[in-house]
Amino acid sequence: MLNKTKIVCTIGSQSDNEKVLEEMILSGMNVARLNFANGGIATQQKYIDMVKKFSLIHERALSIMLDTYGPKIKTHEFVNSIDAIGKDCKVIIHTQEKILGNAHEFSINCPSLFDDIKVDDEILVNSGSVRLVVKNKNNENKTIECQALKSGSVQDDCLINIPNITSSMPIISSDDAQVLKFASRAGVDFIGASFVRNALDVIAIKDFLKELNANIKVFAKIENKAAVDNFDEILNVADGIIISRGDLAVEYPYELQPIVQKKMIKKCNLAGKPIIVGTQIISSMTRNKKPSRAEVSDVANLVLDGVDGISLTNVTTIGLYPIKSVKELSKIIKATEAHAYEIYALNNSQATLSDANDSFNFPLDDAVANAVITTAKEVNAKLIVAFSESGATAKRISKYRPNCPIASVSSDETIRMSLTLNWGIYPVVASHKTYEIDFIALASEIAVFYGLKEGDTFIITGGNGIGNTNLMKVCKL
Ligand code: PGA
Ligand code: MN
Repeated sequence: MLNKTKIVCTIGSQSDNEKVLEEMILSGMNVARLNFANGGIATQQKYIDMVKKFSLIHERALSIMLDTYGPKIKTHEFVNSIDAIGKDCKVIIHTQEKILGNAHEFSINCPSLFDDIKVDDEILVNSGSVRLVVKNKNNENKTIECQALKSGSVQDDCLINIPNITSSMPIISSDDAQVLKFASRAGVDFIGASFVRNALDVIAIKDFLKELNANIKVFAKIENKAAVDNFDEILNVADGIIISRGDLAVEYPYELQPIVQKKMIKKCNLAGKPIIVGTQIISSMTRNKKPSRAEVSDVANLVLDGVDGISLTNVTTIGLYPIKSVKELSKIIKATEAHAYEIYALNNSQATLSDANDSFNFPLDDAVANAVITTAKEVNAKLIVAFSESGATAKRISKYRPNCPIASVSSDETIRMSLTLNWGIYPVVASHKTYEIDFIALASEIAVFYGLKEGDTFIITGGNGIGNTNLMKVCKL
């Protein structure tokens, strides 16, 4: 059985090995996520080549997501690389002049912060290790005078967060322009847009990619307070969402994070847009061979809440057991998915399907999708084969969360890759436009490819052209 909740693996030094990567892929990895924290352009290109190679060898749609740096405010370097700021101490932040920092003064990479910030604003340094409050702004040399509310350490290039202001730092820095250009050259399928603050940020990245003629989907990483506040408008324009729980918890109270997470998942499910949750997923497996009980629950709850994908970071980049980690994640996902209907029945809320049913006024496309889901469950179908040239039919079915995976067939390679992150969808590329194909013969072949046995039931759905889903056929192998 395939995992319907997709597995995203960040590639780093521990997965920088053909054998390891191949095993990760065979253990259920669906998407390779690349991040410049784990190496420069040459390294990322090598990872992309390896993924594409195994994608071909194993006939799997393995897509590639590349993260931008995003508009991060950072300190410059310190005299001693690392220093400690004491509680109540006075600290001066230089916004124009670059200096070598110490415990009493340092400089940052964001000149516009001087105008954006106000007296009494709080500044978090080094992911919240130090908390400063602004006491005074010096117009002459554009420095910000602060007092430390909480002592802690600072180090070279450490992150600065100011939860209550949206900095006017441009969303596409010169470094990120390079990242996006690289993405378009290298055949990346998804951009993970770091530290977006609003819909305009997402639109700017989409426009930049359009200028490059790059057909790349943009996923907005929700990792600051502004993105939570502006979530609805971001969801409206983004192709998908990633909840980056690490940075998010610096600016947003971590005790509220599960609630915010659940709300965002629900909104994405209703909008039919994929959502990935990442950071600290089974992270104890960085050193251990088994996840902790709490981590198993975290993953299972993400599955039950309806995420499309779960993203591994440390365990696959620097962990001792990258392959085992993918195997464990896949095992928890599959076990939970096998019993999800029991929980939905207990809650009397088969999530998105019942929400959609409330309207009793489906367009034909939705009505067919709904019939496919209901029938698949009633007849215990093992696979739904959606002939979906544009991907819309497959996405509609995925949105209502059927009991079995969906093989989505399209002749368009870009569409195929763009579906790798949607819950339950296993995209297949066809040699001809799908409405010219002998549906039943190809669907049977695909069913065999995905491990169905003689006597297993599968359902074919599709239409006679783009955006015209009108067919459901129940077949036995
Ligand atoms: P990163 O994001 O991997 O891009 O740092 C993760 C997070 O902030 O949780
Ligand atoms: Mn982050």
